Amino acid sequence: MIAATILAELSTLSASGQQVQTKMPVDPNELKPIELSPLDAPTEKKSGPLPTPLSPAKRIRYALVGLGHLTLEELLPAFASCKYSKVTALVSGDAAKAAKVAGQYGIDPKNIYNYQNYDNIRNNPEIDAVYIVLPNSMHAEFTIRAAKAGKHVLCEKPMANSSKEAREMIDACKAAGKKLMIAYRIQYEPHNRLAKKWTREKKYGTVKIIEAVNTQNIGDPAQWRLNKKLAGGGALPDIGIYCLNTIRFLLGEEPVEVQGSVYSSPGDPRFKEVEEAVLWQMKFPSGVQANCTTSYGVHQARRYRCYADQGGWFGLDPAFAYERLQMEVSQAQDKMEVKQSPSLTEENQFALEIDHFSDCIMQNKQPYTPGEEGLQDHLIIEAIYESARAGRPVKLEKATRLDATRGPEPKES
Ligand code: NAD
Repeated sequence: MIAATILAELSTLSASGQQVQTKMPVDPNELKPIELSPLDAPTEKKSGPLPTPLSPAKRIRYALVGLGHLTLEELLPAFASCKYSKVTALVSGDAAKAAKVAGQYGIDPKNIYNYQNYDNIRNNPEIDAVYIVLPNSMHAEFTIRAAKAGKHVLCEKPMANSSKEAREMIDACKAAGKKLMIAYRIQYEPHNRLAKKWTREKKYGTVKIIEAVNTQNIGDPAQWRLNKKLAGGGALPDIGIYCLNTIRFLLGEEPVEVQGSVYSSPGDPRFKEVEEAVLWQMKFPSGVQANCTTSYGVHQARRYRCYADQGGWFGLDPAFAYERLQMEVSQAQDKMEVKQSPSLTEENQFALEIDHFSDCIMQNKQPYTPGEEGLQDHLIIEAIYESARAGRPVKLEKATRLDATRGPEPKES
């Protein structure tokens, strides 16, 4: 349940001169779903409950920072499915593009900023949070500037270019008393959440081996993803991170040892600065072993499988795509091996992720995937690169508990 207080579009000036929001009580009726009588027989798949969106005036207001592929193709459309969130501002280096997008989505042109005057968001009471969707090397700078401007930060993965930058981002948000969440959409997506439940509840016994693959055939050699300074690395921090982060999420454990190898096709102009492929293994304290593959040089594949010891395995293929995720289960039954493809009602995973952050702001809760979750991935990525360089396994610090880098569980949709 959403807390009984929410932010309203009332603002006052704090002692430090920053715009701050005041809270006002919300009518609990507003959060109760409307009930309709069911259309189908009770034996059919259940639908509902109906969505309970907050009135637009009460939602958390975002500035989207960076108007590239992810923002224009996925995030702006996803806000239409959000219940607690809306876009009120844009930050872009291209004034004409920003004006056009503002017109398309009904955003007030006075709330358009560029990378130079971005710090002026501190004076804008129509912005509660920023969503950073820039090249990886810019995440740290734009997070720290937003925190100093008194805004909460939702930041795209990978969190930064290094664990050092990730720590600086966490420190800046803590110092400003602002929330920081890394946009690990998979951890909010219902099929992946079901796979996590099955792993933790040992539905098919103890999962002992996980294999995960995330590959794509990348194009233009001039793009920022293939520039070391802008991207921080190649396939591993960009798409391999899904294998790494999702396996950590499924298990709740942290790897205690990694071993990796890095490869780039000689002479391929795309891989002059960053790696083409990384293959790595992770060992977890409970004995689970994971085998992961990522590559920028082959046709796309985005899947994982969890092999358990009581007559079954399960996974998703695709697992990391934006939509049409598909679960797979294989199970021994008497003399048969039964293969199933169960599916849940599809939901917009970006909307779920964004609304979780808004819910955390409204309820003053720690996000499920806070900065510490992004930092942990950077520490593991750095250990995998070190292992590949040194040609030996690299040990990692043991976590003190399960889900050591995560906040409270998000509400189930
Ligand atoms: P993109 O190249 O399409 O967009 C990047 C934006 O940054 C563009 O608007 C570009 O103009 C701007 N920019 C500012 N300075 C730049 C510079 N020096 N060089 C290049 N561009 C510059 O990238 P994208 O695919 O939208 O990715 C943005 C971020 O989102 C990345 O961190 C990426 O890892 C992340 N991402 C996440 C997902 C996901 O599923 N969560 C998917 C795609 C991308």
